[in-house]
Amino acid sequence: MAIIVHKYGGTSMGSPERIKNVARRVAKWHRAGHQMVVVVSAMSGETNRLIALAKEIQPNPDPRELDVVASTGEQVSIGLLAMALKAIGVEAVSFNGSQVAVHTDSAFGKARIESIDSDAVKKELDAGKVVIVAGFQGRDAAGNVTTLGRGGSDTSGVAMAVALHAAECLIFTDVDGVYTTDPRIEPKARRLDAISFEEMLELASLGSKVLQIRSVEFAGKYHVPLRVLSSLTDPDIPVDVEAVSGTLISFEEDPKMEKALVSGIACTRDEAKITLTQVPDTPGVAYKILGPVAQHNIDVDMIVQNIASAGTTDFTFTVPKGELERTLKVLNEEVVPVCQPKNITTSTSVAKVSVVGIGMRTHAGVACKMFETLAREGINIQMIGTSEIKVSLVIEDKYMELAVRALHDAFGLDKSPVEKGCCKA
Ligand code: ASP
Ligand code: MG
Repeated sequence: MAIIVHKYGGTSMGSPERIKNVARRVAKWHRAGHQMVVVVSAMSGETNRLIALAKEIQPNPDPRELDVVASTGEQVSIGLLAMALKAIGVEAVSFNGSQVAVHTDSAFGKARIESIDSDAVKKELDAGKVVIVAGFQGRDAAGNVTTLGRGGSDTSGVAMAVALHAAECLIFTDVDGVYTTDPRIEPKARRLDAISFEEMLELASLGSKVLQIRSVEFAGKYHVPLRVLSSLTDPDIPVDVEAVSGTLISFEEDPKMEKALVSGIACTRDEAKITLTQVPDTPGVAYKILGPVAQHNIDVDMIVQNIASAGTTDFTFTVPKGELERTLKVLNEEVVPVCQPKNITTSTSVAKVSVVGIGMRTHAGVACKMFETLAREGINIQMIGTSEIKVSLVIEDKYMELAVRALHDAFGLDKSPVEKGCCKA
């Protein structure tokens, strides 16, 4: 009998009615003969409420005590779900992170899982019970309660699947899968049947909020297939139908993988652009500019250094919009005296549009097709960045939606690879 892990997020657990639906869904899988482990989040809004409460008492809450408070939402959820299962005649038992035990380091608020003792869970599974585990929480070596960072229940779900050698980890959420792009921008966006871990990782780091990045890293590293699917469908749909719904996140070798050149388009308005003009074109200048920025823990994303003329060059980079003020302070205090740029200019009216696909590794021309598409729309490209499976362009923000729609069309993302005839069905 296979062990299956289900993870339900805050929206899925958002009300007594929804918790009862989760219980029905889990009971259905249990009846189909699976050994079920269910990892849950706090009810939606609850973790925010707890953190706000803590801040009313202590504006800068003590990290250890904040985790004690913030982790309680999940404890409520596990108890309620166990009751909901018992109420419909299914044997169930809840475990908090300490009881499992999920061992973490001591970085309160962003702890990393080090190991999981799954013996207690296995014992209950073998006794035929559904085991419900609190997401988001663990314990450090000294026995302190820790939490894994916002959205951390995804990682808890994956980690339980790894520890139990589960066949699959199903992440139930309020969307029905991973889309080729944001459907609010491009209504023709298509739900992907499957996507590789690497592509999902790029999309997650580009701002797709479907899964916490760390959970994708974890699942990829330990080879646990993930599936993202909706918890808002009829809880009684047959297990064999539900088992192939949503989006599978798997390995390139998986025969279920779509063989697409490009899988998705991500976009964000969260970055600001900074240019230092006429800095000396000498060895070490990039280090002199970005060294101090890095020392202040500001994440730099795109970087462009222009061709030099007359011994000077212009240097442009992007940072998260929320870090612009801090970055300018660092530049003025620590970089200007050393590099003496003629000017520092900034722009917050920029957007980054990225095209992601493992097919790029073996096919040239993706960047070129992007340039051609934007040229046709008359959109100026300000910066270009590439990785093995991604091309990112910075453009003026008012053209972001237009660029996404034009690229979606140019790469034929509204059609499945089978429809496009680029692989055999
Ligand atoms: N309840 C936690 C949060 O809101 C963890 C999670 O939902 O994944 O961040
Ligand atoms: Mg979540």
